[in-house]
Amino acid sequence: MNLADELAAAADRLEASGISEPRREASSLIANAIGRDRVFLVAHPEYILTEREAVAVDEFISRRSAREPFQYIVGRQEFYALDFLVNPSVLIPRPETELLVERAIDHLRKIEEPRFCEIGVGSGCISISVLSNVPNATAVAADISEAALAVAAANAQRHNVIDRLELIRSDLFDGLPRGPYHAILSNPPYIPSNEIAGLQPEVRDFEPVNALTDGSSGIEILRRIIHGTPERLIEGGLLMLEIGAGQFEIVDRIFDRSIWRSVDVILDLQQIPRTVIAIKK
Ligand code: GLN
Repeated sequence: MNLADELAAAADRLEASGISEPRREASSLIANAIGRDRVFLVAHPEYILTEREAVAVDEFISRRSAREPFQYIVGRQEFYALDFLVNPSVLIPRPETELLVERAIDHLRKIEEPRFCEIGVGSGCISISVLSNVPNATAVAADISEAALAVAAANAQRHNVIDRLELIRSDLFDGLPRGPYHAILSNPPYIPSNEIAGLQPEVRDFEPVNALTDGSSGIEILRRIIHGTPERLIEGGLLMLEIGAGQFEIVDRIFDRSIWRSVDVILDLQQIPRTVIAIKK
């Protein structure tokens, strides 16, 4: 088959599997599978795939038809203008998390030798984007998953911040140096466990469940982080947390106002309260 036929057949398969933009995804997957860009596909519809290329295309289209996320198939996702390696041991970086990163950068840039900590580093997208935009900063980042830490380390290497990022296997703050830090950042597992079954198959069947939910109400890990933070933050230091839709009222009430100067929330592009920023007294 030539490229035009491959593309049409692949788009049909993806459409039959319920993929919403089958033609666009088919062309990106084919381009990735044969190591070319999408311009090549448009420019050479008559190109006949080699046997190897055809096998690679079939594998990618089959995986996507089974609703494996595009990003796990190609092994990468862009976040904050950087290219991150991803695999099923880490959550795929989401655009709304860029809000947290942007605010963290604004805050830490004003400090001479900023030092921050991240709980639940996953792919490393938060810590690495911050470090690469704040050249004097150093960080300690934790994850309970050894496999996630390996991905974060590979990304830190790739973006040349490995000397400024200490990666530690830890359940939340348990094994971490006490600091104190100028900021503590986290995009923790906040989806209530009873909502997992209703998620889209890409998330439910492929993303690491421990990175999605705390196994109960969705608030438990947020609560533990908030309670563990004050003793590890300097005066005027920031806690920045990503939260789920509808959680702000409950989360807001966890903060003890005798310890915290202010607690604010930023809305994401869908107007959902998404990023909590609390300043310690
Ligand atoms: N810090 C990572 C991210 O924001 C991992 C978050 C998570 O696994 N809950 O993508």
